[in-house]
Amino acid sequence: MSTDLAVGPTGSFVDGEWVEAGEHFAVLDPSTGGVLAEVADVGPEVARAAMDAAARAQAGWAATSPRERAAVLRAVHDRLLERTESLATLMSLEMGKPLAEARGEVAYGAEFFLWFAEEAVRLHGSFGPSPSGASRIVTSRRPVGPVLAITPWNFPLAMAARKVAPALAAGCTVVLKPAELAPLTSLELAGLLAEAGLPDGVLNVVTTTRPAEVTGPLLGDPRLRKLTFTGSTAVGRQLLADAAPRVLRTSMELGGNAPFVVLEDADVERAIDGAMIAKLRNVGQACTAANRFLVHESVADAFVDGLADRMAVSVVGAATDPATDVGPVISAPALEKIAGLVDDAVAHGARVVTGGRRLDGGGFYYAPTVVADVPETARIAAEEIFGPVAAVSTFATEEEAFQRADGTEFGLAAYVYSADLDRALRFAERLETGMVGVNQGVVSDPAAPFGGMKASGLGREGGPTGIDEYLETQYVAVPRA
Ligand code: NAD
Repeated sequence: MSTDLAVGPTGSFVDGEWVEAGEHFAVLDPSTGGVLAEVADVGPEVARAAMDAAARAQAGWAATSPRERAAVLRAVHDRLLERTESLATLMSLEMGKPLAEARGEVAYGAEFFLWFAEEAVRLHGSFGPSPSGASRIVTSRRPVGPVLAITPWNFPLAMAARKVAPALAAGCTVVLKPAELAPLTSLELAGLLAEAGLPDGVLNVVTTTRPAEVTGPLLGDPRLRKLTFTGSTAVGRQLLADAAPRVLRTSMELGGNAPFVVLEDADVERAIDGAMIAKLRNVGQACTAANRFLVHESVADAFVDGLADRMAVSVVGAATDPATDVGPVISAPALEKIAGLVDDAVAHGARVVTGGRRLDGGGFYYAPTVVADVPETARIAAEEIFGPVAAVSTFATEEEAFQRADGTEFGLAAYVYSADLDRALRFAERLETGMVGVNQGVVSDPAAPFGGMKASGLGREGGPTGIDEYLETQYVAVPRA
């Protein structure tokens, strides 16, 4: 371990019990490259036991009154906030995000439990006459049933909270499979939910390095009623195919390629402030991270120079060091990929303005980087960078900016900067993206619907409709005598 902080449970969590395995896998601290913990590497039989537990607990949890379900979620919210420091430190250690951001993620993750505690008591149906007056239309909503939730490593608490909180609020039980790169926070969350009074079997956590082998059989299990996945588009496509034979309900939060458009009338300083957040938050490892900076040619020099100056003085270091602005990226392969994308951009004629190199320090560090004059033929213009690298290119007309911004198979997030709010809104309304930041560099709020269009996903998480992903609607027709 790289610190003396307890890393918490390291077994899987099934039916209220911690489950060990013969095999273990190492969770690395990306700040040092050292081993942080050894976690149980379970196989399909443990996933099956988790499914058994979720199926057994389903009827009881669905029958638990909405007030009681809400009370558990509120207690989880309070406990998460009470434990902000230890949870934030755990996330910084297993994932590498700077401590201040990890504290923010605890607040963000906790808010999902509060938001959905409040939604749990408002799951109403409807009752009314049919248009002909011949019958009554009665609708009711009920939990869809046991859910398989598969999460990525980049927001270890928030990605689990965004699925688990609405599922539990709706009355569903859950089998959660966190990413093998950062599973510890999900295990901590499971323990905390149990402490808050969640009955055994309602939330189960399965840790494994063999995700397809372990979750594949669950997708074929008739007791499973819902798959909710956050991760790459490639894996999402595979899971959609795997879910098709049973016509399993699915929600997909997939990859992005967010454009960050700076129109010629934008406040450039404000755009740079937004770019720092949209690019460096989570060390650039967010699905909503600005991936392509499209800047009007008349303000491009000011934007590029200003952004490069700010990036050059960002402090890169260990995630738990309070002085750190930018931590390590998640792993050695991630570092390789980022370096490869920058090298490829340079080979295609792009210019490194600042950064453009790996940094020493034992862990997986890449210097905050601005590459300008990026041609559309460079891989960095089309692929998710998932690192602290801003790729900038210029445009001459608003229409050109729009065509390039929207000309991707992805449609998760976009950012538009203009001093003319009406113009920025018109631009935003044309974009096929699920979320748009207008003159701001971050688009996440538990009270807002989060999700993508096109190959970025299916469904929305959070907001007033987030719970719908976990509910079935039944219509009962009753004649009017
Ligand atoms: P990933 O797709 O490699 O893995 C995500 C999860 O799926 C992990 O738990 C992994 O173990 C599991 N998995 C992988 N293959 C599987 C299979 N065949 N069957 C079942 N499970 C499988 O993604 P990642 O590297 O963990 O996360 C980064 C990606 O997630 C990026 O593309 C990012 O844009 C995306 N993401 C999207 C959102 C969103 O809300 N749209 C949020 C965060 C991250």
